[in-house]
Amino acid sequence: MRYEYDQRRRPSKCGTGFRSSIWLNWDCCGLVCAAISWFLIAYAEYVVVGIVLFPWMGTSFFGVLHTCIFSLLCFLALVSHGKAMMTDPGSVPDDAIPIPLKYAPREELNRLEEQRYRTCRRCKIYKPARAHHCSICERCVVKMDHHCPWVNNCVGLGNHKFFLLFVFYVFLLATYAMVLVVIRYSHCMNETCATTGAVHVICLCLESVLFGLFTMCMMCDQYSVITTGTTQIDRLKGETSENLGIREVFGGMSNKISLHWFLPVNIAFPESVKEQLLGYALESTRTIEEDEEVAFLDPSVNDGAETTTEKVILEGGWSVEKHVPKQEDIHVV
Ligand SMILES: [Zn+2]
Ligand SMILES: [Zn+2]
Repeated sequence: MRYEYDQRRRPSKCGTGFRSSIWLNWDCCGLVCAAISWFLIAYAEYVVVGIVLFPWMGTSFFGVLHTCIFSLLCFLALVSHGKAMMTDPGSVPDDAIPIPLKYAPREELNRLEEQRYRTCRRCKIYKPARAHHCSICERCVVKMDHHCPWVNNCVGLGNHKFFLLFVFYVFLLATYAMVLVVIRYSHCMNETCATTGAVHVICLCLESVLFGLFTMCMMCDQYSVITTGTTQIDRLKGETSENLGIREVFGGMSNKISLHWFLPVNIAFPESVKEQLLGYALESTRTIEEDEEVAFLDPSVNDGAETTTEKVILEGGWSVEKHVPKQEDIHVV
């Protein structure tokens, strides 16, 4: 199956095209929103450290401790933001083919290519079951949740973890800043406090309340996305999809909560489940020998033969459901 490369999209090293090696969205609104996000984090760091903490605790042990913790959270929020923005969210490449085509014996190929697989009318390529087209990225994205202007990128299978970490760290920063401000200025009700930098402190309070509430709502909403594997777009369309649970977001080999879930380090999925997660195979990986006998597992082209669902446990405790022909349908001559 061959698909035409979209000539409208100019290949560039940095962008969201099929041939781009660095993922970056050149959407003006997204770039401005991303810059505002960095500015707000830097501003919070300046007010908390320079106006609240230093005049209050100086270079005492607690002063240094609070400065270090708050600065570390700012750093982690910025790194998560950068990773969410610069990581491919799960765009479908132009040589993606339906998984059954990869495993089909050569004689089955013609018949399979006649099957009407879902194709994106904008990208003109195969569209896997869980992919949706984003008109801003101009790409189909696997497990697309939404296009977030604050991180100037789609939120999908490839960067969902970084987006969640960004939201989580902003929530921690907003809560931490509010707690420090309340403790620092609580006695001002009864006595007169110094008014130096009061405007900045008020701005910090507004920023903290606004983004604290916003990120809290976002986390509540994302909780159901993580636990059910149903994205916001799936919900809007009334679709439910097969999913591999919480590790679709965090990757890794273990189901237990680990440190890498909370750090903006790269996500690693076991090779054995990658195709099932992505919903497509690459044309270059189709290496079927003429005489190789391959079990055909796609129920949609099984000549109506009854199939049964079998759960297969893979490395690291991952499990996949496979449709295999019922035992009684196999006739031995
Ligand atoms: Zn598309
Ligand atoms: Zn997008």
